[in-house]
Amino acid sequence: MTDSLRDFRDRARRLDRTDPLKRFRRRFATPSGTIYLDGNSLGLLSRDARAALDGAVDAWKTLAIRGWLEADPPWFHLAERLGARCAPLVGAAPDEVVMSGTTTVNIHALVNTFYRPEGRRTKIVADELDFPTDIYALKSVLKLRGLDPAEHLILVRSPDGLTLNEAEIARHFDETTALAFLPSVLYRSGQLLDLEFLTARAHEKRIPIGFDCSHSVGAVPHELDRWGVDFALWCSYKYLNGGPGATAFLYVNRRHFGLDPALAGWFGSAKEKQFDMALDFTPSPDAGRFQISSPSILNAAPLIGSLGIFEAAGMAAVREKSLRMTRFLMDMADALLAAPPYGFSIGTPREEARRGGHVAVRHPEGLRIAEALRAHGIVPDFRPPDIVRIAPIALYNTFTELWTLVRHLREIVETREYERFPAERKAIS
Ligand SMILES: *Cc1c(COP(=O)(O)O)cnc(C)c1O
Repeated sequence: MTDSLRDFRDRARRLDRTDPLKRFRRRFATPSGTIYLDGNSLGLLSRDARAALDGAVDAWKTLAIRGWLEADPPWFHLAERLGARCAPLVGAAPDEVVMSGTTTVNIHALVNTFYRPEGRRTKIVADELDFPTDIYALKSVLKLRGLDPAEHLILVRSPDGLTLNEAEIARHFDETTALAFLPSVLYRSGQLLDLEFLTARAHEKRIPIGFDCSHSVGAVPHELDRWGVDFALWCSYKYLNGGPGATAFLYVNRRHFGLDPALAGWFGSAKEKQFDMALDFTPSPDAGRFQISSPSILNAAPLIGSLGIFEAAGMAAVREKSLRMTRFLMDMADALLAAPPYGFSIGTPREEARRGGHVAVRHPEGLRIAEALRAHGIVPDFRPPDIVRIAPIALYNTFTELWTLVRHLREIVETREYERFPAERKAIS
């Protein structure tokens, strides 16, 4: 062991001892024998989420149909109730957020609502580093209107394949732009975009703007209302620990409460009208109108518990620890992983205001190194071409786990252990 490896171990232990959030770790189940650093793909199960899910199953058993009004909370109001509880995480009013559908469905629902091409204003501005499903959805929105994505979808280029320049994005906002739809945190590099700046620039050109916040909600505080963002959506199985395929959320700023939902469904009805079963839709007066279907109660129930953890911990404390953890990891990478023979580099912006909750650790052998880590019980994920994504989660990871990761990364390269693993990607990496 080098001295500096030992120094970092001592620092890690100190940081763990004084961690104000350390009491939350024991509420989560970590797969046995593992160091779990993939909470930005699938957050862990908490006992709070488990209890809430068990409660929903029991309510189904004991109440059956009566659960819609008599369960606690009543299923009929669950989407609005959980929306209101999620709202502080994004800086929104309780009636501007509702739980609904899935991320990709919400992209279709809101982009189709806000995309209103007129005259020369036909283009959607997005970027080439977007999560693929977002681009598939945008292209299909255009095709449904009979417009060619090659002409009407503008994908702003990245200067380095990892990050985006906000001023460069804003240069594409002009009188031919009908809508801007962008990510908050880029899923590969972990860059956090300046949503306030982008919103202001879009609005100067009278362009509505929406954000996919799947990679930021639960990791980064937001002020969607103060920034004037028109709409946003996010999944709840990453940092929100809602469980695989958990129901997603959407936000619509209250100045748009009058909009006609493009993908209307009966759960978007005003609550007191829904069971009139009228053939004319009376939409809910708030963001609830953008719901489509009956909420998936069993997919949503874990959130009743997991949102309580955020309420107890506080988003500011979560962000503070997250930043400290990503900083600690990058400091170790600079000191212990950069020089030959190690050859790792960091693909995440260093400035606090420009990074989300994970760190992109780059290496030409990243794919096989990620496999070798898994063989040692450390769970990262891999994103092509060379990114080992490490997400230290403030609610359940420790600084010492990050130190252990770095120790393994050094050994895996020193011994060339990664060469024992195939260079082909599995179906899920
Ligand atoms: C995780 C993620 C999604 C996932 O979409 P689903 O519809 O839930 O499968 C979409 N967009 C972004 C940016 C994501 O990070």
